[in-house]
Amino acid sequence: MSEVLLPGSTVGMLGGGQLGRMFALSARILGYKIVVLEPDPHSPAGQVADVHIKAAYDDELALKEFGTSCDVVTTEFENIPAHVLNLLSDYCPVRPRAFAVEKAQDRMVEKAFIKECGLLPVPYAEIHSEADFKQALQEVQLPAILKTSRLGYDGKGQVLVQSKDDLATAFASVDKVACVLEQRIDLQLEISVVLARNVSGESQCFPVGENIHQEGILYQSIVPARVDKGIAEAAQVAAQRIADKLDYVGVMAVEFFVTKQGGLLVNEMAPRTHNSGHYTQDACVTSQFEQQVRMVCNLPFGDTRLLSPVVMTNLLGDVWGDSQPNWDLLLSDPSSKLHLYGKQEARIGRKMGHFNTLSDDVMAAKQIADKIMQGLTPC
Ligand code: ADP
Ligand code: MG
Repeated sequence: MSEVLLPGSTVGMLGGGQLGRMFALSARILGYKIVVLEPDPHSPAGQVADVHIKAAYDDELALKEFGTSCDVVTTEFENIPAHVLNLLSDYCPVRPRAFAVEKAQDRMVEKAFIKECGLLPVPYAEIHSEADFKQALQEVQLPAILKTSRLGYDGKGQVLVQSKDDLATAFASVDKVACVLEQRIDLQLEISVVLARNVSGESQCFPVGENIHQEGILYQSIVPARVDKGIAEAAQVAAQRIADKLDYVGVMAVEFFVTKQGGLLVNEMAPRTHNSGHYTQDACVTSQFEQQVRMVCNLPFGDTRLLSPVVMTNLLGDVWGDSQPNWDLLLSDPSSKLHLYGKQEARIGRKMGHFNTLSDDVMAAKQIADKIMQGLTPC
């Protein structure tokens, strides 16, 4: 039986981004101490930690200091090298373990794993070199998207391939690193499942969210999703199957595509809390971050019940313009809750914060949120 880590224990967060910050804040509310390992001295999570160890993720001395000062360690970032998680597990439990994180670090590995789970990934072919082009173009219908197998996020590392002749240029533009060529799906909509799984192997899902992306970056999550109940349930079952097969402990997310014909395809998974789960902070009994604290500390599940329809809208650096957004507009709407990540520099496409808009009617919430977004950027 694994030990229960009660409030007062020390939780380690590997990574200093916004997901780490919101986890740290939830952990502190519950009375835990937080140590963050992150090289950036001004990181969002470092700002709110009890202790911030400013070192590279693979600095072995720092990892020893980190591991020995924590009762358990978790992560917010899927690109932490697996050997780092293995090394840390010599000092304290690491949740999720390296195996689960590794499966999500590489699109080829991830897609093969999705198939092993008996689920359908988006049709794809592997591209290691130009020699794979011919076969790939036979297997995958165009238009397609060439995606680097590693280190892509927020639509980065992706190139549209409209015709056969585009493939060579696309491959060269990503420096000929290993890629997947993925069929571009005619989407009805995108949905995601955020779920928690405990040390004993039980899991619970949050309500399914509908995700609207703009230029590859999440713009809004709409909950409840405007999707057939059967599809939403199938997505939850699929996500739980993936979590079971990973023997996952913690909070994770699975992104799905719903095709125009009503088919369900697995897009990708994230071994961490997820942007599409931010709505839980204001609209569910338990947020995804509190649930992550509960899972890594081996506490019981918090209730995942949705208390109100909600729309989560991301605030990218674009909204800042040359100064600050028109905060009055957002703050004077009583149904919207602002969350900012403490990032100093607002860059185009950089996630700076988000806000959750609650209403009895989800489309009314979306209208309010869209109107705020229209007026937020200073003229
Ligand atoms: P990231 O790791 O950047 O989130 P994704 O593969 O999830 O990468 O792609 C980001 C977004 O781009 C998706 O949420 C979706 O809107 C769009 N997209 C990606 N792949 C496809 C595809 N095969 N067909 C249609 N749209 C896609
Ligand atoms: Mg994605």
